[in-house]
Amino acid sequence: MKADVLSARAVPLGGPRSMTVRRTLPQRARSLIGAWCFVDHYGPDDVAETGGMDVAPHPHTGLQTVSWLFTGEIEHRDSLGTHAFVRPGELNLMTGGHGISHTEVSTPHTTVLHGVQLWVALPDEHRHAARDFQHYTPPPVEVSGAEVRVFLGELAGTASPVRTFTPLLGAELVLQPHATTTLAVDTRFEHGLLVDQGRVTMAGTPLNPAELGYLAPGHDTLTLTNDTDTAARLILLGGTPFEEEIIMWWNFIGRSHEDIAQARSDWMTGTRFGEVKGYDGDPLPAPELPSVPLKPRGRVR
Ligand code: MN
Repeated sequence: MKADVLSARAVPLGGPRSMTVRRTLPQRARSLIGAWCFVDHYGPDDVAETGGMDVAPHPHTGLQTVSWLFTGEIEHRDSLGTHAFVRPGELNLMTGGHGISHTEVSTPHTTVLHGVQLWVALPDEHRHAARDFQHYTPPPVEVSGAEVRVFLGELAGTASPVRTFTPLLGAELVLQPHATTTLAVDTRFEHGLLVDQGRVTMAGTPLNPAELGYLAPGHDTLTLTNDTDTAARLILLGGTPFEEEIIMWWNFIGRSHEDIAQARSDWMTGTRFGEVKGYDGDPLPAPELPSVPLKPRGRVR
């Protein structure tokens, strides 16, 4: 058994002093890992140089967003009325469902910003769920050679209470220098391992920083090794393969071109997604739809 290695591409998020993120999902070779459909990894960024994060009101539908930080702080506001702070080691899971809008702004005392922004596709029967926001601070759990924080699902004998719509795993792992750890995993799950810091092997496959290792379902354990002199920090994602075809466009997930066109139109006419209070600035306009119909993507392309 070998893991596939998915490399990141650099994506500027836009704005005058734009932050650039490393995107490993979606990409040509793979659209989804479980219901995880979007993996952006950023930093450590010196906010004095990048300007930090300042994302004006924008909508989501058909998905959940997961914000997880290693360093820094982000102020979150949404049209549910949530006003929350995203801090290192704390999960913030926002359910877009039928429609939500939100803002994300790094706080003034944040000097270094470093974290991940992840999306989860909602299954068809729940993609119009009510908007929701959940916050959870997982306790660190020690296993042989590693410290684990399970923010979604179950791993290392610990479980997150956060509700999801499909079976999912999300955890931060710190693997000690010259350590190997073997974790029991759900054989039905496929897994993705994002390397934040350090160099590790996943099922014997070497992974470098910013790479995403992929392991297909069918394994009851996952073995990770750090042969280096420094600790490695990792994000482990997993889930049962998401069998539905989806269309991802801008901040929307739908099943058809018409779904996306409707969401875009609803955003531009100020309906469906609610209003974010307390943000000083205008909402983000949606880009123009492409002139050719959007096509769905599945797990096998
Ligand atoms: Mn967003």
